[in-house]
Amino acid sequence: MQRERVTESVYVFTSGLYAQVTATLITTAEGAVLVDTLLYPEETLQISRFVHERLNMPVRYVVNTHYHADHTLGTCFFPDALVIAHRQCRDLLDTRGRKSLEVMRANANDLDNVQVVLPQVVFDDQLTLCLGNKTLRFWHVGGHSPDAIIGLMEEEQVLLGADTVMVLPHFVDGHYETFVQSLQQLQGQSYECIVQGHGEVILRGEIEDRLAEDLAYLNKLQVLVDKAIDNAGDSEVRLEKALEAIKIEMCGKSKVLLSGAVQQLHRQNVLALAKARRAAHGAPIK
Ligand SMILES: [Zn+2]
Repeated sequence: MQRERVTESVYVFTSGLYAQVTATLITTAEGAVLVDTLLYPEETLQISRFVHERLNMPVRYVVNTHYHADHTLGTCFFPDALVIAHRQCRDLLDTRGRKSLEVMRANANDLDNVQVVLPQVVFDDQLTLCLGNKTLRFWHVGGHSPDAIIGLMEEEQVLLGADTVMVLPHFVDGHYETFVQSLQQLQGQSYECIVQGHGEVILRGEIEDRLAEDLAYLNKLQVLVDKAIDNAGDSEVRLEKALEAIKIEMCGKSKVLLSGAVQQLHRQNVLALAKARRAAHGAPIK
């Protein structure tokens, strides 16, 4: 795991074990706020030791940016923190979150001590957390998953993009149009940096290009999916082939990101968007 101090009060931890997923620690004179908690206990416990032993401060609040296990499973290692999330995150953790932990436990024995923790404080649209002269604002966006939120550390203008900003946009558990809107609202701001849900921190000078690249990917994807649907007529076999032919590079993204894992995410995007586009035109894929 990599630890990086991105501004005076903000540390970012990037997993070496799972898809470069990140957790962000905001330090204040009255304790710390941890946004997301990683997947594997080994790495979450390193964060815990760093805050408690090196910085010598309590973690007062944990924020879950959405219910996906790679962002929330470590929450149980901060039993004294108040846990905050979107209202739907609590419901989804209680249902899908519990189920996915069962499945993962069957495949990995290092998750034996992990438990799903349900957030105690939930919000619908937005929430502002003031602690030790620092202000953290969180708001609902919902494109990556129904409960997805974004955060901003206002004093140092650090945007906590969570999975709305990751190396490849991924809307399979959420909604394509909503995802596009949530990226558009980040354009033209004056952020110091963006902490991605997966991948390296995006620096100030790179932000606009990166947001434009993500939006171009989503736009190109839709153009190519629509074309594939049109050309296939009513042949399911032709459609399957045409969708298969939409490669990630054709949408302006590299296939080597996240050690190649992006290709699978891209494939999921193609299929999800094709399903949504056909449903919208009255011909749902079975
Ligand atoms: Zn996610």
